[in-house]
Amino acid sequence: MADNEQQNAGVETFRFQAEINQLMSLIINTFYSNKEIFLRELISNASDALDKVRYQSLTEKSVLDSEKDLVIRIVPDATNKTLTIWDTGVGMTKADLVNNLGTIARSGTKHFMEALQSGADMSLIGQFGVGFYSAYLVADQVTVVTKHNEDEQYIWQSSAGGTFTISHDTEGEKLTRGTKIILHLKEDQQDYLPEKKIKDLVKKHSEFIGYPIELYVEKTEEKEVEDEEPAEKKIEEETEESEEPKIEDVTEEESKKKTKKVKEVKHEWEVLNKTKPLWTRDPKDVKEEEYSAFYKALSNDWEDHLSVKHFSVEGQLEFRAILFLPRRAPFDLFEPRKKLNNIKLYVRRVFIMDNCEELIPEWLNFIKGIVDSEDLPLNISREHLQQNKILKVIRKNIVKKCLEMFAEVSENKENYKLFYDAFSKNLKLGIHEDSTNRKKLAELLRFYSTRSEEDYTSLKEYVENMPEKQKDIYYITGESKQAVKSSPFLEQCRKRGYEVLYMTDPIDEYAVQQLKDFEDHKLVSVTKEGLTFPEEEEEKQSWEETKTQFENLCKLMKDILGDKVEKVAVSKRIVDSPCVLVTGEYGWTANMERIMKAQALRDSNMSSYMMSKKTMEVNPYNSIISELRKKADADRADKTVRDLVWLLFDTALLTSGFSLDEPSKYSSRIFRMIKLGLSIDEDDVADEPTKESAAEISEKTTEEESLMEDVD
Ligand code: ADP
Repeated sequence: MADNEQQNAGVETFRFQAEINQLMSLIINTFYSNKEIFLRELISNASDALDKVRYQSLTEKSVLDSEKDLVIRIVPDATNKTLTIWDTGVGMTKADLVNNLGTIARSGTKHFMEALQSGADMSLIGQFGVGFYSAYLVADQVTVVTKHNEDEQYIWQSSAGGTFTISHDTEGEKLTRGTKIILHLKEDQQDYLPEKKIKDLVKKHSEFIGYPIELYVEKTEEKEVEDEEPAEKKIEEETEESEEPKIEDVTEEESKKKTKKVKEVKHEWEVLNKTKPLWTRDPKDVKEEEYSAFYKALSNDWEDHLSVKHFSVEGQLEFRAILFLPRRAPFDLFEPRKKLNNIKLYVRRVFIMDNCEELIPEWLNFIKGIVDSEDLPLNISREHLQQNKILKVIRKNIVKKCLEMFAEVSENKENYKLFYDAFSKNLKLGIHEDSTNRKKLAELLRFYSTRSEEDYTSLKEYVENMPEKQKDIYYITGESKQAVKSSPFLEQCRKRGYEVLYMTDPIDEYAVQQLKDFEDHKLVSVTKEGLTFPEEEEEKQSWEETKTQFENLCKLMKDILGDKVEKVAVSKRIVDSPCVLVTGEYGWTANMERIMKAQALRDSNMSSYMMSKKTMEVNPYNSIISELRKKADADRADKTVRDLVWLLFDTALLTSGFSLDEPSKYSSRIFRMIKLGLSIDEDDVADEPTKESAAEISEKTTEEESLMEDVD
């Protein structure tokens, strides 16, 4: 270790990593009244350490040779003002001590400090993977004595203040295997010593720990011994609780027998968590508070769960499970390095492992719970899990039950909004990945829409509200509700009374590509090519005529815009606006283009190749367009027409959700139009042009001249 200093005889001093040091200061100095959570955190660490050694023993029995008992013990010591949490788990080697308790910060360290500073509750500490340091809520000094099978016994010690020490423990009481965390309680934290307090805390926070939690309790027994002393002395030895008359009775009786009762103080281990595992009980007999307590113990959450599913499957294969839906998304829901899920696997009541990947798909990674299988072998290894058929069936059932649970939650609008706001991204990821359950998942989707701008609507409601004529489900994708709700693409649907769904989450673009339809109604983007509306025969006839009338203008516009557009065509998509830019039915939408541009790491060549092909659709019933047609028919080379076409194109880019490639060209065109409006002569401007604008104008003119040549 580079930054340790050799001290006297075998005691090494280490510096806490900077962030951990800050965290400890925060824990020590922040005013926080709910300090009791430290016990839950340390018991939870003890339980994890026991899980580790038990898991090892499934494949390597001999690891338990050093100690067979798997237990957590709590020892209060009023004389020395210490509270000890002692487990016979895996223990820590010297290197583990150095790494795990102080020199290497985890990602959670910083996240937790940020969360604390923005008002999060201290009791969340366990969720951020730094629970050990909660010991400093109540202790001013912590001593960790530990013995791992592969190392000697070591002592870690720290009174915070930036450093800790580690020494080889040659003199202390020998541990078989495991860890003792000795808390030297602060003066004002001595109320964690009474047995009653500890019993209450274990009951409250750690009732469902899967190992016995034993408390070192004091028992006083009365014993009869021969009495050789005078009666008065004996009275003093009686307890305070004894009542006077009783003492007299006893005294009389005993003086005859010449015996007396004395108290004998004995110590013994009392098991505090006797409840049988919750999942083995009949759901009918489990109270809501019990689920809540179990959920909190399992998840480190301080709030109750939003919903729970407790079930068993019997038949060819047997298992029980409890699945919880949290109220909020965790801080690291989509962090790539995060563990994949939160389902604990048990086999016949024996804990096997955390986050078993095969138990639940990634899109359900926010579900917390446990699964207890009757059929899997106890010594199953991670490698075997992958092909395991039993697990595949369990997984299928879990997904099914989760979907049922979400559907149940959806019956309560308020709760469903809470759920949907927290986890809709996961549902959409599910739509993208899980083809089997896509239909069910589609029922769970909610969107704002032209009909329902303040409340979510479902696809089912959408379909129920469709006018008879309407066949397809229309949607628009974009950056925000604000941005899409005034889009010209909505005009035609509005006119016909067709609802349009707002899809404003980037993941919607991906999900909707997989979804394709709902209850036999095709999902159709109003911003893409191929949008048609049901129409009458005679309407068709007159439309053909309109198309012919505008053929000339469309051709001219395409000539002017060159390869900026694939083609220019008249369309009935819009009602009020003069024109819009639509994208190919299978290509990127403007919104997708925006999302892709925002992903800075993408190779710019690739995105230009994938870039949306745009078709300019013009509205023949719009006065600007019909006027433009007249002008174009009169003089193909009219300079104003060309300018106006460019302006229309740039404006359509903006209203259709794209971004401008060259904003400066756009603005100089606008300025020219403004001047025209104000009847300022083109030449007047040149009065005192700045260098830049003069250059811009000349560049522009040459560009336009060359274009003019093209057109001609
Ligand atoms: P977390 O337990 O969430 O990983 P902690 O800060 O509580 O974070 O503990 C840090 C690490 O120290 C643990 O991951 C574990 O490796 C080790 N550790 C803590 N307590 C014990 C214990 N009782 N026995 C063995 N190792 C422990």
